[in-house]
Amino acid sequence: MSKKYTKTQLKKFRAAILEKMEDIVADVDDIQRGINGTGEATRGASPDSVYSVHMADAGTDSHEKEKNYLLMNRESDYYKNLHIALDRIENGDFGICVICEGLIPEERLFEVPNATKCVGCKEKDKLNLL
Ligand SMILES: [Zn+2]
Repeated sequence: MSKKYTKTQLKKFRAAILEKMEDIVADVDDIQRGINGTGEATRGASPDSVYSVHMADAGTDSHEKEKNYLLMNRESDYYKNLHIALDRIENGDFGICVICEGLIPEERLFEVPNATKCVGCKEKDKLNLL
């Protein structure tokens, strides 16, 4: 009775995941340039999209750098999770809830590609009902 996503659907997921990974790489590149450089050149040359989104209320320079490091750590965790999601596609267990073995809805997977539980199981898990 185990349902699975079709190869075509998995290809779509894979493409979406790879896109997210590229976004992260580009983001982290920007951040690293901000950390390593004096900041002057970067700020002058590029629109401050990264700063305005993530660091709208950045005060001092050191404050800004601190946030950059935090962001990088968070992004790299997410990046690792995306890698795991790709592995799961390879292994054929992508999109399958590890608890009830039901299919995790497509929208959720596009939102959270590394999700391993369906919403129902995740909620129960949170409440320690399992
Ligand atoms: Zn489930």
